[in-house]
Amino acid sequence: MTAVLSIAAIFGAAVVISAIVSVSAWLRRHEATGYLSIAVLAAGSVWWSAMSMVTLFWRDPTVALWSISLTYAGVFLLVGGWWVTSRALADRFWRLRPRTALILAAEPLLCTIALATNPWHHLFIDHLKATSVGGAYAAVFGPLFWVHALYCYALLTISGVRVFRVFIRGAGRKRGYLLAVLTTLPSVLVNLVGILSGGRLVDLTAIGLAVGAPVMYWMVRHDSSPSAAPVSHHDLFRIMSDLVIVVDGQRRVLDHNPAARSLVEHLGAADRLPAVFGEFPAGGHSEFTINDIGGTGIDLSVQISAVTGRRSSDTAWVLVARDVTEDNDRRRALEHANAQLHTQLATIERLRSDLAEQANRDHLTGLHNRRHLMTTLSGMLASGRPLSFALVDIDHFKQINDRYGHTTGDDVLRQVAQRLSVVARPGDLVARYGGEEFAIVLADCGIDEATARVDEVRRAVKAGDSGAAAVTVSAGVTASTTAHDIRELIHTADMALYAAKESGRDRVHVGGLTPRPVPAGGRGR
Ligand code: GH3
Ligand code: MG
Ligand code: MG
Repeated sequence: MTAVLSIAAIFGAAVVISAIVSVSAWLRRHEATGYLSIAVLAAGSVWWSAMSMVTLFWRDPTVALWSISLTYAGVFLLVGGWWVTSRALADRFWRLRPRTALILAAEPLLCTIALATNPWHHLFIDHLKATSVGGAYAAVFGPLFWVHALYCYALLTISGVRVFRVFIRGAGRKRGYLLAVLTTLPSVLVNLVGILSGGRLVDLTAIGLAVGAPVMYWMVRHDSSPSAAPVSHHDLFRIMSDLVIVVDGQRRVLDHNPAARSLVEHLGAADRLPAVFGEFPAGGHSEFTINDIGGTGIDLSVQISAVTGRRSSDTAWVLVARDVTEDNDRRRALEHANAQLHTQLATIERLRSDLAEQANRDHLTGLHNRRHLMTTLSGMLASGRPLSFALVDIDHFKQINDRYGHTTGDDVLRQVAQRLSVVARPGDLVARYGGEEFAIVLADCGIDEATARVDEVRRAVKAGDSGAAAVTVSAGVTASTTAHDIRELIHTADMALYAAKESGRDRVHVGGLTPRPVPAGGRGR
């Protein structure tokens, strides 16, 4: 009797546990595919356990026959539920369609008919037998039962194999698949022992199932279930757009995904990866870009990683390549546009400085104009470095105009300007001051040297071949050291020029604190 009570208590616990699992899974059925199947499985377990309890307590052959017969409703739910679960585990997008449900219902229907009509033919349950467990009845089965058992076991085996295959293909987190298969094993073994005992043992299958159901629930709950991880690594490898090629140390291609197939075929690399991929990193990772790989016009960004197995001789290299042709084309177009922009900017800058230069030039002589002279001279004076300044005026220029005409006058202006330019050294400045008057700024030049150089100019003009119009110039020179500001400097030079004119023209006069006139004719005479 104690044995009966203990077994009954276990059956009771199985009912409670399975019921809790069933209800919990049912409430969560929208969260993951696995829950609904578990709810059905656990409900089957509740029913089976309950019927087993009835069989255990009512030691009446009629009641026992009923309860044993009714157990099969739970059997159908369990076997069918397992099959549905395995499909859902293997394929997240699989759904139970009415047609499949109908096919699954066919066998249970036939069994029900066989059980209902059993009293007449005894083909399903041959007879009942009192067991050693408190005299509780167990069934001795007829041939129809064995057909049914075969069908159920076939279905369970298919489901088990399917789940096991998902486990083999799946990632580490899918260990739950195997656990799912394993949890069903004890119940299956208990059931086998029970039915093969020829009615000597009470059917304890329900207890095994009550252990399995919570484990499966826990798996789905903790994400170890495949229903929460729908894509296997194999599938990822297959569908990813990046090219993945696995090679060994001899560059033999061990594996590649469909995305890499056309490249591998194009490069003729079905056996070995060509040298175009460079040296493989000894034990690490390298990244580089290959443009126009194998003349395909495709640019690839390549990552090569060494993957070493348990033995170092197991090293393989995984190449992950991404087509960056479009990115590169865009970048190249951008660089081209950028270069064009730079050229255009340089042109604009050149035009702008040309324009600024033109604004500083006298269009007749090409010399700098007075505006530029004033600006530059101010700057040079401000720097504090010594300089000399000369004003040079063509003598009796009006007469040249009058005699030869304005055009000749212009030519003379250009010739004089040209001769003045010769005297200029780097840093000096020669400008047209106005009309037939020119200015020369001699940088870092003392008054004596300046006077000598200006006088050289004077003589050059005089000696120069100006065609019909032979001209001379007069000049006034001064040094920055004798002037306070630009106005005073120019004024002093102007005064010296005036003095040169006054004293007979064709000469250079020095202006300043101690004006020293240069004798007319000078060394040239
Ligand atoms: P002086 O020896 O005293 O300097 O006598 P000058 O005749 O040279 O001086 P004046 O100021 O009387 O005459 C300057 C002339 O220069 C008057 C003007 O017609 C002429 N002139 C000014 N600018 C130009 C120019 O761009 N082209 C021509 N052809 N003549 C010019
Ligand atoms: Mg003049
Ligand atoms: Mg003049």
